[in-house]
Amino acid sequence: EVVLRLSGIEKVYNRGKPNQVSVLRGADLTVGRGEVIALVAPSGAGKSTLLHIAGLLDSPDKGTVEIGGEPMQGRSDRKRTSVRRSEVGFVYQFHHLLPEFTALENIVLPQLANGVARKDADARGLHLLDSVGIKDRAAHRPGALSGGEQQRVAFCRAMANTPKLLLADEPTGNLDPETSDRVFGALMGLVRETGLSALIATHNLELASQMDRCIRLDGGLLQAD
Ligand code: ADP
Ligand code: ADP
Repeated sequence: EVVLRLSGIEKVYNRGKPNQVSVLRGADLTVGRGEVIALVAPSGAGKSTLLHIAGLLDSPDKGTVEIGGEPMQGRSDRKRTSVRRSEVGFVYQFHHLLPEFTALENIVLPQLANGVARKDADARGLHLLDSVGIKDRAAHRPGALSGGEQQRVAFCRAMANTPKLLLADEPTGNLDPETSDRVFGALMGLVRETGLSALIATHNLELASQMDRCIRLDGGLLQAD
């Protein structure tokens, strides 16, 4: 089962201007169900652009994006938003949690937005927090959590609506190496437990080596590493 397929993705910024930059030049990628893939690239190579295109936050100039076997080109914004909300989870280098809400509420809110009942959303949120070892932090606001804990909550939020695909952009990039290892371990536990597919951009080759496969983004193309 193919969860994500990118074919011939091209992306140019500032087309026709002096600062035109051709970021993706025909990138191809197929992600199967349950596959965890490391995306390794130097800074500025176009990782974020690729992840945003894969997650339907941005559109390619050329090429096709398929999620769950469904082609996304030519679909309405409404349809793309609905696919994104139900099928894709995002994690960034910085947690982007809502500061005025508790850890649990940050995981519950996206579920409520998707029509899940409060009681069920709470139960799922607590289960997710438990899976990453911080159930006892449920009532804390992000400001009262450590960096590693904040990132664990961000993983739980990304999983809140049981996506099929997790897209992560340097998810442990702002943590010290030891915390990064532990937090990454928690993420992998959650991913493996749910059979999720994941595309995880990282500079950390040690972490990359723990994934099923490693691909490199270089010169606008994706290559097996
Ligand atoms: P990475 O995540 O690998 O660091 P990005 O995808 O963020 O790379 O950016 C790739 C290149 O595209 C960089 O040169 C960046 O400056 C440029 N770029 C990214 N987003 C935009 C944008 N919205 N407008 C113009 N240029 C952009
Ligand atoms: P929208 O309200 O625009 O339909 P959502 O709020 O449902 O989108 O966002 C879905 C996911 O996409 C969330 O994880 C959110 O953090 C992420 N997201 C939304 N807009 C952006 C953006 N411009 N850049 C990066 N991530 C985004």
